[in-house]
Amino acid sequence: MFHKDPCVFAGYPIDPLDELRGNEKILNSMFRADSTRFIIYRDGSPMMDVSAGLEPCYFNLSEIDVINHVFLGKDENFTYFAAEVTNVIEEHTNRKYVDLRTIAREIAANGFSGMPSLLAKGKMLLDWHTRHNYCANCGAKTNCIKGGHSRLCGECETEHFPRVDPVVIMMVVRGDKCLLGRSPHFLPGVYSALAGFMEPGETIEEAVRREVWEEAGIEVGKVDYIKSQPWPFPSSLMIGTICEALNEDINIDNDELEDAKWFDKKVLQEVLDEGGNDQFRVPERLAIARHLLEYHLLETWIKDQVD
Ligand SMILES: [Zn+2]
Repeated sequence: MFHKDPCVFAGYPIDPLDELRGNEKILNSMFRADSTRFIIYRDGSPMMDVSAGLEPCYFNLSEIDVINHVFLGKDENFTYFAAEVTNVIEEHTNRKYVDLRTIAREIAANGFSGMPSLLAKGKMLLDWHTRHNYCANCGAKTNCIKGGHSRLCGECETEHFPRVDPVVIMMVVRGDKCLLGRSPHFLPGVYSALAGFMEPGETIEEAVRREVWEEAGIEVGKVDYIKSQPWPFPSSLMIGTICEALNEDINIDNDELEDAKWFDKKVLQEVLDEGGNDQFRVPERLAIARHLLEYHLLETWIKDQVD
């Protein structure tokens, strides 16, 4: 069943070899090896070979002028780096820079693949390098170290690590019904799971209860973790949960949502089977919200204890 599969952007497909990140000598020789494959990005989009399916275009170091690079790891045959380059690599019929959502959507339509995870890691780390040229501690220039997995300040020697922003996303359930909301920027008819950034000092359960109360005026009891999804726009981790609503009267926060409703399982199943329309449709398979919705429809969730 689909909801039991890993989410898109999960399932890193190669060995990240993180034990080598402190070994500049080995990293440097891998960076310069003729067989090393570079995946290049422009504005967060990797260049893809679109001639047959959708595969990354691989470049050799001699073809590119690298500004920032990230060591991605190795498979049985090759070493992989993600790179941002200064020379212009033109698109043509067979190769294009493709937005990661488009890549993930097309690849996910053919079953699970770890490729979006590899491409997402490159994007997230290259984005981070672009935005962290200066030290947050003293303002001096920072330099990329450890194969692009951290940056070191040239003045105060503070080491800076890539950030990940945790987001809670929740299927709020009451009996056979679940609560879905609509943000103004959603495509027509789409209702999805409520979600929000965690705040410093919160547990996952506390963040779920706060968000659902703030956005919809619903009090939440038990919260269970289901699964998670890296989300590279720009660098979040979606923490998927299912939780129990203790009341039914919705009171929406109009700054966050334009609508929220309870949907019963029969209606949701019909929309899943038939695809929905501009009045009501569910999130696409790219999104963890779809996994949570299918979990609610197909699994028995036991709410017999409150933590
Ligand atoms: Zn500094």
